[in-house]
Amino acid sequence: FFFELEFQLCNDEVKQQHNFSANFNAKILIAEDHPVNQKLIKALLETKGNIETTIANNGQEAIGFFKKDKFDLILMDIQMPVMDGIEATHEILDFEKDEEISHTPIVALTANALKGDRERFLAAGMDEYLTKPINKEALMNVIKKFSEAKLKSRETLEKLEQEEMQEQEEFLNIEIEPEKPAVENKNMIIAKHNMLE
Ligand code: MN
Repeated sequence: FFFELEFQLCNDEVKQQHNFSANFNAKILIAEDHPVNQKLIKALLETKGNIETTIANNGQEAIGFFKKDKFDLILMDIQMPVMDGIEATHEILDFEKDEEISHTPIVALTANALKGDRERFLAAGMDEYLTKPINKEALMNVIKKFSEAKLKSRETLEKLEQEEMQEQEEFLNIEIEPEKPAVENKNMIIAKHNMLE
């Protein structure tokens, strides 16, 4: 058994194409039962310097990692032993709802793309899907799509926070006195206490 990997020389054009990951530290959970696919996806992702990967061998393991850690993206194989990708997705969505945490994008991985698959995966609550064998460009496009969404939501959040702070400052329009160090306060209390005795 053997397989071929195609490597691209890192010229300026390629560097520029993948520049998006330069200011994005992604943590990606790979739920995939096949060891060759695990290695291949991990290798594809980790050539991009700041992408960190965690591998789960089935849906149940994926849920375990998901509950313990915060990921930016989950790559979810559909066919896995113990627990498949659809069931694991349901559990993850239930957990997000129960814990009121923000949604982590889930990308389905499927070997045999059948008609209606995309609709089926989206209906199951998945955000996108990729067909196996994984195409490098398609994988990078998906990561780019979700990392840009993340950066955008972070920018919006920061902007809202700034605006809110500005409004508060304008409303209060007072200078806040710096707090006195705790030690000084404590000594003062002791001194006061001694005077009373
Ligand atoms: Mn599988």
